[in-house]
Amino acid sequence: MTAIPSAQTSPLPPGTESFDPANSEAWEALRALGHRMLDDMLDIQSSLTHRPAWQELPATKRHLFDEPAPIEGIGADAAYDRFRSHILPYGNGNWHPRFFGWVQGQGTPLAMLAEMLAAGMNPHLAGFNHSPPMVERQVVSWLAQLMGIPGAGGLLVTGGTAANTHALGVARFAAVRARGGNVREHGLQHWPEGPTAKPLVFYGSVETHGWARKAAEWLGLGDRAFRRVPVDAAYEMDLVALRGMIERDRQNGLDPFCVMGTAGTVNTGATDALPAIAQLCRDESLWFHVDGAFGALAVLAPSVRDQMAGLELADSIAFDLHKWGAMPFECACVLVRDPAVNHDTFRANASYLAETSRGVSAGGVYFADRGLDLTRGFKALKVWMQLQASGVAKLGRIIEQNVTQAQHFARAVLAHPSLELLAPAPLNIVCFRYRADALDDDTLNVMNEELLLRLQERGIAVPSSTRIGGRFALRLAHVNHRTTDEDMALVLAAVTEIGDELVGELVAARAQRGP
Ligand SMILES: *Cc1c(COP(=O)(O)O)cnc(C)c1O
Repeated sequence: MTAIPSAQTSPLPPGTESFDPANSEAWEALRALGHRMLDDMLDIQSSLTHRPAWQELPATKRHLFDEPAPIEGIGADAAYDRFRSHILPYGNGNWHPRFFGWVQGQGTPLAMLAEMLAAGMNPHLAGFNHSPPMVERQVVSWLAQLMGIPGAGGLLVTGGTAANTHALGVARFAAVRARGGNVREHGLQHWPEGPTAKPLVFYGSVETHGWARKAAEWLGLGDRAFRRVPVDAAYEMDLVALRGMIERDRQNGLDPFCVMGTAGTVNTGATDALPAIAQLCRDESLWFHVDGAFGALAVLAPSVRDQMAGLELADSIAFDLHKWGAMPFECACVLVRDPAVNHDTFRANASYLAETSRGVSAGGVYFADRGLDLTRGFKALKVWMQLQASGVAKLGRIIEQNVTQAQHFARAVLAHPSLELLAPAPLNIVCFRYRADALDDDTLNVMNEELLLRLQERGIAVPSSTRIGGRFALRLAHVNHRTTDEDMALVLAAVTEIGDELVGELVAARAQRGP
């Protein structure tokens, strides 16, 4: 065996170029810069609560982003200085303890470091005979166990949109095969002589996240194939309506193939009646998919895990690790109960990717064969390291903490005369508004939007918004592992304070206009 010299920097031969530093002095300079980056990042992450939740990039600094491509570089130190002055302070705020917008996770310091290790090692995760894919296999197998479908196949992908779309693609493949066709061969292009003579349709509630429309379009089903089922007062799918729609669609020559339940809807955190949908899918021979983008991980939290019952009955589940899993972007997981059908949907045989009996390519490109991507990064490492370091139990406690804080906040809203809860808050999402007697909905809509913008622009907190029955709602979606009870109290106080301030401004403006 040829020995590889250890711990010795090798200078570049003169006349050769590389992105590596050219000699040991240059390596030392980069090492010092790296240490500075690490110190800066940890300094900020450990003091976020004292910083604004959000601040906008000032107009005076925007010109940097209009500069043309640099033909000659300015050096790593200068490039980092630009990052520090123009980028670092002006993120969207989602790492901050008082960020509750949309559903965005914070990331963790350890996962950040794991990302550095993954990028430094930079392995290729199509498959092959090396440790990194074993890490992903293990992570997927852990997640399948936590979701109650041990042995499910799956992989990590970029996000919930990708994970759900993958699953719907597998469902579409399986449906066409069950009808004697082959969607990989014929696509859905030639309906009359294609895999199924009837248009395939699938079902989800009107509260389904926007990924489903994109997926329907992308998979060649078309948006008309996505049948939107009404919801009840709890914002859960109306199963009587679902049954009626399936029956009517069949009578009208359509071909139902899948029902999607949502575990944690993006608007209000509602979860569809998963066990009943599972039963209906069994009775009707339909694929049962669950979009658990953020909600599925609530299986780890004792007080709400009952809401997730039925997840374990799904044919496929999609969920994010970059929402309630606290991982830095991006990372999501798709699980398919029957690993074989997942493989059959995607497997390809390219000669340049041929499997060998020994060596690096032993085992073949098994991850590329379960999904769309060939070149895949080492996303699994951050999940693996965080779970190794802190354990599943701690993630469960943090999810529980978020639920407790959100529920407490919802109760405080109910108890406050100037606040109004606009939808049930079963999980971690609270939709509410500031209100005052004698103000109509139109005025309240304008006022609450202004309230939201002041909260954000003053750097106090970042909720987002939605519309509930036409009413503008402030929306807290709480997946934040950094939030303390004090942060929650501060947000509540700021909302009422700014609301009172806006009422004061309104009264003053009306008085000025006169009677
Ligand atoms: C966020 C979300 C998605 C989309 O996931 P991304 O990771 O943003 O692509 C899908 N469904 C639900 C319920 C979500 O909350």
